[in-house]
Amino acid sequence: MPKPPLEKTLYPVVERWVRRHFGCFQTAINKGLRHSRIDVVGVRDTGGDLSGEIEVIAVEVKRGSFPFANGCGQTLGYNVYANRVYLADLRDEPFSTDEVQIASHLGIGLVQIRSGRCIEVISSPVYKPIRRLNLRLLETLHLGKCQLCDSIFNIGDSGAGANRFSSLTRENVRKAIAAEKGLMFWNREVAERKHKMGMRVSADGTTYERRFICPDCVSYVIAQIAPAKR
Ligand SMILES: [Zn+2]
Repeated sequence: MPKPPLEKTLYPVVERWVRRHFGCFQTAINKGLRHSRIDVVGVRDTGGDLSGEIEVIAVEVKRGSFPFANGCGQTLGYNVYANRVYLADLRDEPFSTDEVQIASHLGIGLVQIRSGRCIEVISSPVYKPIRRLNLRLLETLHLGKCQLCDSIFNIGDSGAGANRFSSLTRENVRKAIAAEKGLMFWNREVAERKHKMGMRVSADGTTYERRFICPDCVSYVIAQIAPAKR
């Protein structure tokens, strides 16, 4: 009997499916976070013409032979980060009635991986993740939220040694306009408040309280109120 493939060899299969099936503009594999590790994650636009709303989809990948309810519980735990959560399992046989019931009861989506293809068996309900964990996940995907238009946009490069904020200038509006970049700034008051309460303390007085403005808002809104060059 051939050995089942390693779990991580299934990740690209699931990632491709997530990209195509949900129309994700960004996907990632094996995303390690402080409290979790997500096998496959995707981000898609859901805001229509009038908003930049997005949805994060997280998938737990298995290759059979695991305690099913435990796997479902683990998958459900992704909803602290994501709006939709799926358990994708490699199997020839369909999910049993019990398994479908367990997944529906807990509120997770189910995907069958078979012959290199993914089939959505149950779709995931929509969840409201913990905002700070959701935004932190997005930042590891090089995405940030614009404080002006509320859209999610690319803030920098990926890869080792890359500048993760390369699409932004640091509190320099003129430079941002000239370079057609976005802007990054820090909120000192909020940082000070959290510092006082011992919530976020840095040794050197650095503030982590970063906020972003997208290149479009810089070019088409802020550029109009910036003083004209003589
Ligand atoms: Zn914007």
